[in-house]
Amino acid sequence: MSDSSTEVKVFVRIRPTAHFAQELIEYLPDGQSINVRQRRDSKRGVVNNQLCSWSFRLSGVLHDVSQEDVYNTVAHNVVIGALEGYNGTIMCFGQTGAGKTYTMTGANESYKQRGIIPRAIQQVFSEVENRNSSSFTVHLSYLEIYNETLVDLLSSVGGTRPGPAGLAVVEEARGGVSVKGLSLHPVHNEEEALNLLFEGEMNRIIGSHGMNKNSSRSHCIFTIYIESRSRTYSQARYITSKLNLVDLAGSERLGKTGSEGQMQKEAMSINRSLSFLEQAILALADRRREHVPFRQSKLTHALRDSLGGNCKTVLVANVYGEAAQIEETLSTLRFASRMKCV
Ligand code: ADP
Ligand code: MG
Repeated sequence: MSDSSTEVKVFVRIRPTAHFAQELIEYLPDGQSINVRQRRDSKRGVVNNQLCSWSFRLSGVLHDVSQEDVYNTVAHNVVIGALEGYNGTIMCFGQTGAGKTYTMTGANESYKQRGIIPRAIQQVFSEVENRNSSSFTVHLSYLEIYNETLVDLLSSVGGTRPGPAGLAVVEEARGGVSVKGLSLHPVHNEEEALNLLFEGEMNRIIGSHGMNKNSSRSHCIFTIYIESRSRTYSQARYITSKLNLVDLAGSERLGKTGSEGQMQKEAMSINRSLSFLEQAILALADRRREHVPFRQSKLTHALRDSLGGNCKTVLVANVYGEAAQIEETLSTLRFASRMKCV
């Protein structure tokens, strides 16, 4: 746990495809380096076949890897950390369609395709059962951030309602942050927790229809709160931690033509919050830097006590393997490798 507590781990996951651009994407046998070539684009109409090449070093490259293996590589230790009192954050980042939601939540079609959230729920409850020396209490919340507006995806559950003033990130006396008005739901077993996840997913979809927005344009933070109390008098301990499982909004840049109004507002809001996320993570890594700019966006503010320091932070950069998406893949990898350098 102490080895790399301030290091941000960054993995790239390449979506499986029958048309993997092996002439453009090459990963090295060390499993941590990836080279990407790109045809020097003929923006000025000049036909040019020259290839530019970029190398990225990450914590790991996941290609043709099962959901189970992704979980074991990316999430297992973060969940163990959370049970031992360390806050953790796992985030999926990348262009729309690259597999963020598949990685975080998974596909409903089969058990094997469950993503990180249902597997983390399962691991939390199985660990809780095995750790007899402490008693655990688990709560969940599910927050959506759309254009800097906070939405409680579980407000419909159990008669809870969002407060009249809406939701707000607030600083707590002991240095943590919380979202005022966000409903927290106690869960006693895996099934209860999965039902809430499902309910939240439904609300995410329904809400997106109601507001006429695309659900890939919002950030979603599923949080598991763990409290443990030691049962032995000799070492009476009370520990709390939070595990944030974050499905970030699609990072794609807007096309040069024709996006206006709502789409432009969404894109600007996403770009700003992703760039603030980057600034916050870079600032955290710089020990000389006194001030970390958490309050610049709702996303970084809400995650303030769960990034850097004693927290485990993991980023999964989801990319397509196809040649047609190579520009966005490059931009995702650039973001990822900047985070890795911290
Ligand atoms: P995003 O959330 O980044 O917009 P999705 O997770 O919704 O992308 O993925 C788009 C589609 O691709 C979905 O139908 C999803 O099931 C599928 N998909 C993504 N990644 C994988 C993968 N690793 N294996 C199989 N199917 C995948
Ligand atoms: Mg998605």
